[in-house]
Amino acid sequence: MEWRCSICGYIYDPNLGDPDGDVRPGTYFEYLPLDWICPECGAGKEVFEMIDEDFEDEEFVPRHLL
Ligand SMILES: [Zn+2]
Repeated sequence: MEWRCSICGYIYDPNLGDPDGDVRPGTYFEYLPLDWICPECGAGKEVFEMIDEDFEDEEFVPRHLL
């Protein structure tokens, strides 16, 4: 599950982690330290929002709308 910074649009991908922030690849957003901040804009975890992958999946669009 990816998370997006609502301030700058940075995407946190748990598969990549945050090398600059000493976060190892494979670290879930939930397990990031409480003082972790966005590497792009410095905002706290509270501004991040979960990306609903189902919502962005093109197959989610009902066929009668295509
Ligand atoms: Zn940010």
